[in-house]
Amino acid sequence: MHKILIVEDEEAIRLGLVDLLEIEGYQIDVAVDGEEAMEKVRQGQPHLVILDLMLPKASGYDVCRFIRKSFPHTFILMLTAKNEEINKIQGLEIGADDYVTKPFSVFELMARVKSMLRRVTQDASPAPATGGADVLGFADVHIDFRKYEATRAGKLMELSAKEFQILKYFSARRGEVVTREDLLQAIWGYSPENMPTTRTVDNQIVKLRQKIEVDTENPVHIKSVRGVGYKFDPPEGK
Ligand code: CA
Repeated sequence: MHKILIVEDEEAIRLGLVDLLEIEGYQIDVAVDGEEAMEKVRQGQPHLVILDLMLPKASGYDVCRFIRKSFPHTFILMLTAKNEEINKIQGLEIGADDYVTKPFSVFELMARVKSMLRRVTQDASPAPATGGADVLGFADVHIDFRKYEATRAGKLMELSAKEFQILKYFSARRGEVVTREDLLQAIWGYSPENMPTTRTVDNQIVKLRQKIEVDTENPVHIKSVRGVGYKFDPPEGK
C-alpha cells in the first residue's frame, strides 16, 4: 500500500485531503508544521509527500530540501497559494516533483497523485515494460536508476525523482527527438486533453542541464530541437 504524508497547517484543507485519499485506499499520515513533517518523513518514509509551502516552524522549502537530500526517491507534490508564480518555479528548483496551486480541484490533485504513485510501482517492478537499462553512463556522469544514485566525476550528485525519470526516459530513447508533450505524458502523467504549459518541461530541462552539462549555453548531452523538444544524444562516454 502506498504511504502518503500530508503536510498542511490549514485544518480544513488537511482534513479534506485525508478524506479524499483515504477513500482511494492510501495509507495516510499528517503533519501540521515543517518540523513535524521532517520527523514523520524520517520515521515513516512515505512514497509521496503532499507539502504545503507556507508552514509554521520550518517552511515547505526547508522540508523539500531535507527530503531531497535524505530521501531522494520520495515524491514531493507542492501546494502553493494562488498568484505565487515565483514560488511555483522555486518549488521545482528546490527539487519538488510537481505542484498544484490552491484552490486546486480534487480531480487535478488525484490525477497528479496517481501519476506519481504509478511511477513508484513501476520503479519497484524488476523489468519495466518501457525497457531501458538500469544504469546510464555518458561523459563523466554515471547513473544507477535502481539505487537512485548519480555521480559526476566520481562525486555524488543530487537529482530529484523527476530528474531520474527524465534521464531514464531519455536513455530509452537515446538519439531520438522527444517532444515536450512526450515528456509531459510520460513523466508528469498528463493526458493529451489536459496539457499544461510546456514551460514546465523547459524549466526542468534547464535545471537538469545545470547538473550534467559542462556549458549550459552550448549543451552537448540534452540538445534542443527548435520548436519541437529535445534530443538526448551525448557523445560516447569513456
Ligand atoms: Ca499554509
